[in-house]
Parts: sequence; structure tokens; C-alpha cells
Amino acid sequence: MKLDATDLRYVTSDEFRVLTAVEMGSKNHEVVPLSLIVQISGLRNGGVNKLVGSLAKRNLISKMQNSKYDGYRLTYGGYDYLAMRALSKRDSMSSVGNQVGVGKESGKLPHIYIVADADGNEMVLKLHRLGRVSFRAIKSKRDYLGKRKSASWMYMSRLSAQKEWAFMKILHEHGFPVPRPIDQSRHCVLMEFIDAYPLRQVSEVENPGKLYSTLMDVIVRFAQAGLIHGDYNEFNILIKRETGEPIVIDFPQMVSTSHENAEWYFNRDVECIKTFFKRRFRYESSLYPRFRKVVDEEPWSGQDSFRLDVMVEASGFGRREMKVLEEYMESVREEEQGSSEPEEDMEEEDEDEETGDEEDRNAEKADIVLSGPKTFEARTVLHSTHQTSSISG
Ligand code: ADP
Ligand code: MG
Repeated sequence: MKLDATDLRYVTSDEFRVLTAVEMGSKNHEVVPLSLIVQISGLRNGGVNKLVGSLAKRNLISKMQNSKYDGYRLTYGGYDYLAMRALSKRDSMSSVGNQVGVGKESGKLPHIYIVADADGNEMVLKLHRLGRVSFRAIKSKRDYLGKRKSASWMYMSRLSAQKEWAFMKILHEHGFPVPRPIDQSRHCVLMEFIDAYPLRQVSEVENPGKLYSTLMDVIVRFAQAGLIHGDYNEFNILIKRETGEPIVIDFPQMVSTSHENAEWYFNRDVECIKTFFKRRFRYESSLYPRFRKVVDEEPWSGQDSFRLDVMVEASGFGRREMKVLEEYMESVREEEQGSSEPEEDMEEEDEDEETGDEEDRNAEKADIVLSGPKTFEARTVLHSTHQTSSISG
């Protein structure tokens, strides 16, 4: 899929004003009426007419034929654009390269790009995308969206990125093996690029027992700090190319050990590792962490202990946000399981769900591909020379 947001050079400051007006209008309008865009942007009516046309042509907004009025909606591409522009304005990144990590995992749309700053340092940009959930699915839940119902995909994708950012920061600060977080805007997280293979693509390791216990140890350290990863599997564990050390990624579903289903999440994380090691490396061990033991034994009041779940909450990603995101992600899952009809707004998904055996064969293929030199070609240089408009995101 083409990343429309790489088209950054061709957005004028008036177009940017209009785009921002559409984003602001989306906060309480599913389809933002033209009159509101005019009002927010503070531009002339005739001018706005032309500008929305050119933005729609580039797929940054789309025109909706609503029964009551004509209006526009921000597209994924438009939202990507706004986030990347904000990141480039503050010099966090300046060019966009190739997409990585295109293997699909559990219904998520992977949107991971290699980007670089002005000095050519490579980083990873993750664009969070939570699919649109039908009104039916949302209605069945508590009214957690409030007035935001309409713009939920934007709001939820942003929450997801904010959550990942909050957790990555605190984990990194406390010496956990996670990428260094660099910046965050809207639904995007900018982080250190890890030169690694996802564990899923590793067909052989020198010492599976050692890796197994390292990975279980990370689960234990998480729990001792009050956290459970919640999606701890071969997709979200990267094995560093040079050292073979594991780095853990992907945090939008992390939960606190005080969560009502904490034990279930904990056991699922443990089970994922056990199953994967058995299938892939034919490695089995009778040793694995037990939730009760880890949690009960932890001297919370001890000198070295810290509660990262509490710290994250204090850092601004609070209990309410956690809950809202959790319920939404649950709706997405339910909807995916419950209906085979694709959401009309969803982007294309790749359909090769694989069986375990195929996965193993692919691992061997993937190894060959991945051991080649890493290439980075900046396709587009983001401009930061546009005039800033008085509206900023
Ligand atoms: P998703 O929500 O799509 O599962 P992840 O954070 O798990 O997103 O990233 C998807 C893939 O992108 C990973 O499996 C990995 O291949 C690649 N990836 C993500 N973050 C990094 C990183 N910091 N360095 C290198 N590769 C990464
Ligand atoms: Mg993942």
C-alpha cells in the first residue's frame, strides 16, 4: 500500500489549514460539513471549495455524500500526513523509507516504516490503525465513546499510540529490553530501529534453552514491576542480528497485574512461548513462571521494587484511557470473529493466514531473505519549509 502521507511537499499552507479544519471538525462530526470547514479554517468560501477538491484528489480527505449535507472526512492518509508533518516540524524525522514487517498478525494492519532524521539515522515509525468498528458493535458496549462515536477510529488509533508510547518510555527507563522511544504524534510512535529478525522468522537458535529462560525471565520481570505484556509471542519478540538478544515490542495491549483477568493474560503469554518453542525448536521445559508465585512473592514495599503500572498511570495514560481502549479493542476482536463481511472502510488485508507447518517452512525462506544487507532508500524527503499556519495540530 502506498503511504499517501509521503506526498508532503505538495501541501500548501492553505491546504494544511483546511486539512487541520477537517481534523478538528471530525471530533464531533462523522462527516464534517463544508460550512464548518470554512468556519474553522477562516478562509474564504470559494477558496475552501477549491482546496477541499485538491485534498480529496490526493486522498487526504474524502467527500461523503450524506443525506443531509455534503461534507468531508479525514482519511487514514490525511491523518498519517498530519502526524508525519508534526514529527518533521519538530525535526524528529525528515524522510520516509521502506515499509517493514509486512507479515500480518491477528487481524492487525501492519504499518511500520523505516524513516530517518536529517543526519540519516534510521528509526522505525509505527502508525497505529485500529479498524473501524460498526455502530452495531459499539452500541452493544457501554457508551464509552461519548460524543466521539463518529471519529472513533482516529481517537482510538491515537489512544493506542499514546499507550504504546507511555509504556515504552517507562519500560525503557527501567532497563527493560524494548526499543528506545523517540517521539509520538497522533496515532504515530517513532522509535529506535532494531536490527533484528522477528522470532517468528528464526528457524534455529544455538541454545534454545537459554533463549527460553531469558524470555520467561522478561515475563517475570514485567510482572514483578506490575505489568503483563498481553501479546507476548513470536511476532512481538525481535532477535537482534548481532547479539541474538531479544527485544520486546508492541505494547498497546499491556495490562496491569491488578487487572481482573491478569492471571489469564499472564498464562497466555507464558503459553505462547512454551508452544512456540515446542513447535519450532522442539524444546520443552517443565520450568515456567506461575502468576501467583511471581505476584505473591514480590515484596512490593521492598527497596528495589517499583510499580510501573502505577507510574504509567501517573504519566498521563490513565485508567480511563486504558479502559476505553481495552473495550474498543475487544469490540474490534468480537466483530472480526463474529462477522465474515469485511468492513466497507477497511483497507485491503492480506489473506494468507498460515498454518503452523507453513509457518515453519516460511521461517526457513525468511531467514535467507533477511540475512541480506539491509537497504534504506529515502523515497521522499519531507519538507519543513512550509509556512506555519495559525492553526496547528
Ligand atoms: P503490529 O501492531 O502490527 O503487530 P508491531 O509493533 O508488532 O506492530 O510491529 C510489526 C513488525 O514491525 C514487527 O514484527 C517487526 O518486524 C517490525 N518492527 C516493529 N518495531 C520495530 C523496531 N523498533 N525495529 C525493527 N523492526 C520493528
Ligand atoms: Mg505485533
